[in-house]
Parts: sequence; structure tokens; C-alpha cells
Amino acid sequence: RRRSLEAYAARPAVTADGARVELAANIGSAAEAEAAVRQGADGAGLFRTEFLFMNARSMPGEEEQFRAYAEAARNLEGRPLIIRTMDIGGDKELPYLQLPKEANPFLGFRAIRIGLARQELLRTQLRAVVRASAFGTVKVMFPMISGLQEWRQAKAVLTEAQAELRNEGVSFDESMEAGIMVEIPSAAVMAGQFAREVDFFSIGTNDLVQYTVAADRMNEHVAHLYDYFHPAVLHLIRNVIEASHAAGKWTGMCGSMAGDPLAAPLLLGLGLDEWSMEAGGLSPMKALLAALDRGECRALAQRILALDTPQAVRRELEAFRAAKL
Ligand code: PEP
Ligand code: MG
Repeated sequence: RRRSLEAYAARPAVTADGARVELAANIGSAAEAEAAVRQGADGAGLFRTEFLFMNARSMPGEEEQFRAYAEAARNLEGRPLIIRTMDIGGDKELPYLQLPKEANPFLGFRAIRIGLARQELLRTQLRAVVRASAFGTVKVMFPMISGLQEWRQAKAVLTEAQAELRNEGVSFDESMEAGIMVEIPSAAVMAGQFAREVDFFSIGTNDLVQYTVAADRMNEHVAHLYDYFHPAVLHLIRNVIEASHAAGKWTGMCGSMAGDPLAAPLLLGLGLDEWSMEAGGLSPMKALLAALDRGECRALAQRILALDTPQAVRRELEAFRAAKL
């Protein structure tokens, strides 16, 4: 019998065959971290730090950032907090940064590209993140990584920030994990190479879809093409999960596909390790996972990977839902 949804908030997510699944929340502030815990989150799989910057009139300094990250970490009471470095640009503006106007902002100067070009910004943020790691289980991830070189450069800035803080006698978590968002197809294709160096992946389907099928995520005229059930997207996701597991690493998902109940049996079958979604979706997702068997979902994923259109994928998932749930 189905439990009430409130009852699920207090319980871990467990599948019908007894596997524990990590369900985390996407947050944009320390206050949302607290709300996420109340709604049953195992942690925060994506802290979108840009809201901290967008709500300010000038660039928040290290202290202000540190306070926000440390408070979020404390509110999670030891549960993991994945802090994403600034993802400005694309659709997100920041007047005081005076970014260039671009014809194709989603293909332009955004996220880690800004952080690597203006390394003082990235260094300040990473110092704040590293300091916050003393107050919980903090992990850091870099957005919009397209190749190994960017990851290595970002990681070098992190290593420098850690060395500085060590010299200053500041205590922090020396074993803090560092990973990348997989939201550009080139990174998904190269997952095997990345997996040797990163601690984890988090798949950002919101951007991964737009870059895979070349359909702007904001453009209604091409919205019919923008679909995370496109088989090409699914093959990329499968590649990332398999590459991470082959190297003993883990893969999460923080794009909106992770919160879609229709996608859940497929993602479970593909072996996704961590799911991060809007906190309101957590209890319904736990109720759904409790009805899913991993063996059946693996077989479903195999069938789906052989399909050739998003429409066929949706039909298969709808048939599975009608038969099993
Ligand atoms: C994504 O691209 O899927 C993602 C989670 O990041 P954002 O939506 O903030 O670009
Ligand atoms: Mg993104």
C-alpha cells in the first residue's frame, strides 16, 4: 500500500528491490538548504551560486560568499552540499560584470569560461568554498566544462586556493571532492578520460539537450526539438554513467530530467547514482522509486537505448508506467 507523501519525506529513498537511492535538492540559497532537509533531501546536488551574485549590486567578496556557503553546509547537517561555481552568462546577466553583448550568448562567454578568463573571480569563490568545507560535507563542481584542459585549469586554481589557505592556517576539508557538470556533448563523449581525474559527474540536462540537438532552451519555435528523451541524449547519459562506474566514480543528474517521474525508471535502469531536483518533487519521487525494481528498469533501459526517436522512447516509458505503476 502507498504511504502518504508526508511519510516519505522522513524516509530514505529505497527501490522495490531494496536499493538505496540518493535524492538531493537543487537550491539557490542557504535558506533553501534548510527547506530541502525538511522535505526529505539527502543533500543538495546543485547549489546555484549565481543567485548570490545576481541579488547583489556589486561582486560579493570572499567573506560574504563564505558566510552563504558555510550556512548552507550547516543547514544540511553533514549531508552533502555540491556548490557549483558561478554560472553567469547565457541567459543570466550580471550588470556589474559588464559582460560583452553577444549574438549567441549560450555559445559564448559564460560560466567557467568567465572564471578562467577572470581567475581572480574564480579564486575568490573557491577560497570561500574551501573555507566552507570545514562546516559540512562540501563538494565543488565546475559548470560548462567542454574539455580536459578547462577542468585541469579550474582544478589548478582550486589547488592554489587550498595551498594559500593551508599557509594561512585556515582549517578545511582536505578530501573535498571536485567534479564537473556534464552539460556539453564534448564532455559527455570524453567522459572516459575525465573519469580518471574528476571525483564525480553531474549531468545538466537543461543545457546538454540544447547543445546536443542545437535547439535554444529558451526558444519556443524549436521547443518541439528540445527533448531529453532524444536517443542521442540518452546515449550520452549512458556513456557518462558507464565511464564513471568503470573508474570507480559516481554520476548524478541535476537537470530537470532528474525530477521527471516518467524518466525515473529509465535513469534507475541506467544506473544513475544521485538525483537532484526541486525539493517539492522529492517525496513523490521516493514513492515512485519504492515501486520500481532495478532489474526490470535495466531491461527497460536496454530496450529504450535501441529506439530511434524521442516519441518512441516516451511511448515505451508510458507503457512501462501503465503496466507497472
Ligand atoms: C543544467 O544545465 O541542466 C543545469 C542544471 O544548469 P542550469 O539549468 O543552471 O543551466
Ligand atoms: Mg546548465
